[in-house]
Amino acid sequence: MSRLAVVFGGSQGIGRAVARRLAIRGHKVVVVSRNMEAAQDSAASLYGEGHVALSCDVSKEQEVKSAFETIQKSCGSVGYLVNAAGLNRDALLLRTPPDDIAMTLQTNLLGSILTCRAALRSMLSQGGAIVNIGSVVGVKGNAGQCAYSASKAGLEGFTRSLAKEVAGRNVRVNLVAPGLIRTRMTAGLDEMEWTRRIPMGRFGEPEEVARAAMFLLESPYVTGQVLLVDGGLRLGM
Ligand code: NDP
Repeated sequence: MSRLAVVFGGSQGIGRAVARRLAIRGHKVVVVSRNMEAAQDSAASLYGEGHVALSCDVSKEQEVKSAFETIQKSCGSVGYLVNAAGLNRDALLLRTPPDDIAMTLQTNLLGSILTCRAALRSMLSQGGAIVNIGSVVGVKGNAGQCAYSASKAGLEGFTRSLAKEVAGRNVRVNLVAPGLIRTRMTAGLDEMEWTRRIPMGRFGEPEEVARAAMFLLESPYVTGQVLLVDGGLRLGM
């Protein structure tokens, strides 16, 4: 059955790969990011017809509210929600300005909470599925990423709690926790150095995360789960 899928952070990287996979599976996709041109470019590149782009900053409550009003009015009820919008401002805690800490939490954690809250309005009556994109560092921590890992660990707790709240209304909520994936976010890393810590010996590709997200969206009896897609990084060497 074709559904309306909304992908926050769908303009590039992991979100764009999820949008691509959703479109291939026959779903109509709304691609959302702050940069409208990039969102349009992503929506236009998707397989099939009727995909649309929208500009919205997930850290701003009013923008999230208006985005969902627009979606409801012009596209209908949301069946799938994917929260891939995220950013990192990595530094040791004492060197991280409070504004960067706030921005990280507001985008990665509060942003996903706001989009879930808005999407639930229609999902509670019609059912649906949500996938939040967390991170392996939310599970195991990482020096230099205190705010980022706090945002992702928070997203895990949120995912499990919301899964319990809405399970009886046929809404499922799961989280994919990627390891090191080749996107803009990791472009500045020394790949050789980091690869030594990954049992599979390589970075992942956005498409490999998208497959896991799609599995969770389509698995009718799975909720409240955290699925690591990290080439074994969590296990350690
Ligand atoms: P990218 O930087 O490639 O993409 C991030 C996406 O989020 C873009 O579409 C960006 O668009 C959007 N975005 C950022 N801030 C906002 C905002 N305030 N409002 C709306 N959209 C926003 O990163 P990745 O694809 O790598 O990351 C996707 C998710 O995966 C993130 O949550 C990240 O934390 C997580 N992740 C990534 C890993 C990796 O190794 N790459 C590892 C673990 C987790 P725009 O800038 O136009 O708003």
